[in-house]
Amino acid sequence: MTEIKLYNTATRSKERFDPIDPANVRMYVCGPTVYDRAHIGNARPVIVFDTLFRLLRHVYGAEHVTYVRNFTDVDDKINARAVETGRSIRDITDETTGWYLNDMAAVGALEPNHMPRATEWIGPMVAMIEDLMAKGHAYVAEGHVLFRVRSYEAYGALSGRSVDDMIAGARVEVAPYKEDPMDFVLWKPSSDDLPGWASPWGRGRPGWHIECSAMAYELLGARFDIHGGGNDLQFPHHENEIAQSKCCGHGFANVWMHNEMLQVEGKKMSKSLGNFFTVRDLLDGNWSGGWKVPGEVIRFVFLSTHYRKPMDWTERKAEDASKVLRRWQALVDRSPISYAGIGPNVDPIDGVVQALKDDLNTSLALKLLVDFEKQRLRAETVDLSDLSSFLRTIQILGLHGATNDSTELPEDIKAALEDRLNVARSEKRFDESDALRARILEAGYDVLIGKSGAIIRETNQADPAKLEALK
Ligand code: AMP
Ligand code: ZN
Repeated sequence: MTEIKLYNTATRSKERFDPIDPANVRMYVCGPTVYDRAHIGNARPVIVFDTLFRLLRHVYGAEHVTYVRNFTDVDDKINARAVETGRSIRDITDETTGWYLNDMAAVGALEPNHMPRATEWIGPMVAMIEDLMAKGHAYVAEGHVLFRVRSYEAYGALSGRSVDDMIAGARVEVAPYKEDPMDFVLWKPSSDDLPGWASPWGRGRPGWHIECSAMAYELLGARFDIHGGGNDLQFPHHENEIAQSKCCGHGFANVWMHNEMLQVEGKKMSKSLGNFFTVRDLLDGNWSGGWKVPGEVIRFVFLSTHYRKPMDWTERKAEDASKVLRRWQALVDRSPISYAGIGPNVDPIDGVVQALKDDLNTSLALKLLVDFEKQRLRAETVDLSDLSSFLRTIQILGLHGATNDSTELPEDIKAALEDRLNVARSEKRFDESDALRARILEAGYDVLIGKSGAIIRETNQADPAKLEALK
């Protein structure tokens, strides 16, 4: 078994991964603040760390990996949303949490072993803050409890910056009651209209950072293997998590992993640029591309860029990915083996797994998988052990068809129409193919003519009955 290597932000180097306890490999990833649908950027850490979770399960055994991802369900953005909409906070967070789980399942993400909601772990947060107070790392000022950043010498080590550099570059909240502008909130007072819990400092609510320190400690212990999240969380969130946990005497995480950000067609995603989509928008076809992007296509596009590189979502990439996945699906459809018959005892393609073990080189892994299919699975008679390995590898990458509740049309109708288009075009009966294409568009489907032939895709206007009538 070759070892896994992971890039550790804390040491700025790729290191051999040695779990503290191979019988219980432990990973914590910062989850969403639940007040709205997850945008496609939010799906990046989910897909990246799900792929790592799947790799760890493959290497150490599924029952030997514990993955925790939290839900931040106490936050001023949630409070504001409740005021705006007149709805209760619990209503908003319950609904958003449900959306999140459905949308992430659609892109093939397994559920983590624990998904703690911050509001259910207030007790352990208060206990940690009391400990920090007792040790001189925290102080009370105007009803707030603040962390005394200058009391933790190694503050800034994760990002390799000194406190003074950080002050210069950061948008730190200046407040007159802070001893130092870098000090951050552990606990803040709540007025009667805001969510609050009883504490030694009066009725209030936790600051954001303490929840991850407390829930990681409760669910994974004082020291665990991997902590992940997007690189926008490195500072201040992760620096603050480290300061809190270390000052409580916890070892905290050994390896820190951060994914780079996602952009859309080369630009930062933003509502004002009109290039802001949620995962649900892509699944439902409510985006500039107009067609329903299957979850596994989204996942394929994400995995085709290494997690430490900025990633660009483009329609072109989604089209290319859908062609590859269509070809693979056709291969599975006519093969005597199905995914259901492939278990963890089937050996995956070695080169692909090696690529994943090399700091999750998913772009190389996909390239090798595409090559394998071209070289080994296109012969008249396919070697069944090659085919099994291929399917097993696709499972490890989580690309074996996610749950998607779109109005899927039986594949055979689409395939029959695609065939008719291809035959008409190859026989140069273009009037006929154009007419058929126009009627398919009318039924709310989109027709893409590629090198390997026509591909019919659903848009959000799709009417399966109309398409069926064309058959
Ligand atoms: P939030 O709900 O904003 O705390 O974000 C949840 C997760 O999504 C965090 O791990 C963020 O780092 C990550 N994230 C937010 N925006 C992007 C983006 N544009 N690209 C990649 N990851 C992102
Ligand atoms: Zn966190």
